[in-house]
Amino acid sequence: MKAPEKTKVVLDETKIPTHWYNIVPDFPEPPPPHLHPGTREPLAPEDMTAIFPMGLIAQEASTERWIEIPEPVREIYRLWRPSPMIRAWRLEQELGTPARIYYKYEGASPVGSHKTNSAVAQAYFNKIEGKKRLTTETGAGQWGSALAFACDVFDMDCDIWQVRSSYEGKPYRHVLMETFGATVVASPSELTEAGKALRERFPDTTGSLGMAISEAIEAAVKDPDASYSLGSVLNHVLLHQTVIGQEALLQLAEFGEQSADVVYGCAGGGSNLGGLAFPFMRENLEGRTKTRIVACEPKAAPSLTEGEYTYDFGDTAQMTPLLKMYTLGADFVPDPVHAGGLRYHGMAPLLSHAYHLGLMDAIAIKQREAFAAGLLFARCEGIVPASESNHAIAGALREAKQAKDDGTSPVIVIGVSGSGQLDLPAYAEFLAGEMPDS
Ligand SMILES: *Cc1c(COP(=O)(O)O)cnc(C)c1O
Repeated sequence: MKAPEKTKVVLDETKIPTHWYNIVPDFPEPPPPHLHPGTREPLAPEDMTAIFPMGLIAQEASTERWIEIPEPVREIYRLWRPSPMIRAWRLEQELGTPARIYYKYEGASPVGSHKTNSAVAQAYFNKIEGKKRLTTETGAGQWGSALAFACDVFDMDCDIWQVRSSYEGKPYRHVLMETFGATVVASPSELTEAGKALRERFPDTTGSLGMAISEAIEAAVKDPDASYSLGSVLNHVLLHQTVIGQEALLQLAEFGEQSADVVYGCAGGGSNLGGLAFPFMRENLEGRTKTRIVACEPKAAPSLTEGEYTYDFGDTAQMTPLLKMYTLGADFVPDPVHAGGLRYHGMAPLLSHAYHLGLMDAIAIKQREAFAAGLLFARCEGIVPASESNHAIAGALREAKQAKDDGTSPVIVIGVSGSGQLDLPAYAEFLAGEMPDS
């Protein structure tokens, strides 16, 4: 196969979306509301003002289809958006597949993942309401780095609780956050009541996102100048990520494709997949396309494929509202697999709702298959994908191989949510044949 006419589509800055897309009004039935953990009544806006600014609370409950992106946020988006879409023709060639494979690459953002799309928006809405400090959790450190960068942009303090296994296993991550001026501690820590209690209950714990969330929320609640920021799961976070899918639709058209047959994205809390997939789902719901959407989760935290669809807490200390989602239980601590960003017990309520309604599929992938896929991708495309993104690539490779067997040529879109340059210790373990297959 020769190189196709176009290898990549890089849109002009004027094509950065002007609005975020909210899928809520387009669902065939409304998603179940978040509930107050005490009363089990639907959450009122004032229930969230201790930790979130009104601008984000309004987005969380919004039923408006299009929400304008403030100009100061678009100005920062211009540093790296629109992100490129690339035809992975060397990968196609390597596989000998008649499928056409495209990937939307979010690793070109300042800190190397899609997370900046929401971090910048969240810092902005806090800043304009007078907040001076943001607290948050981070797993692999992608969200922490994104928020550290966003706080730096808007001149705010940033305090980050990082899951202990990642803090210790990925030391350059916290250096990256500190480079942007953030303060980082390993979670569970001694700095919060929740952290101390968790350390007493689970003395040998390697930490989890659920635990780190509890600590960051507690710190925000105690400081009137602070808000808490969440990097995934909530409706407003998925909303901010819809710039990805909107751009992807334009880029596919510029490649001359009518639509995608299938979209693969990795799913931890669900934000990069929601952001990529919801604009495609809208096309499906309007009857224009029949794109299949596939969530790729790690076998070590299989919330969609093995979890229960029920109201659960977003964190271990049970401080968040109750969210209706596919969950393995707020106490669930996954094996310390390398895809730290996917080690979450639940799944975004909006994605869970879409899955429940049959609007998307899900598969679970073990980490060795994920890394084998990531390695092949790297060798063909010259980009080392994030550990998380490898799950999406692995899902897409299954599809591309099937297409070869069936002699079909589907259009496959992969969400490559981030760069794996800081995940090289995991690649080293895989290359040495020492990666456990959990
Ligand atoms: C955080 C992260 C994920 C997982 O989070 P989602 O909210 O499911 O997107 C996936 N990929 C990368 C690169 C990440 O940093």
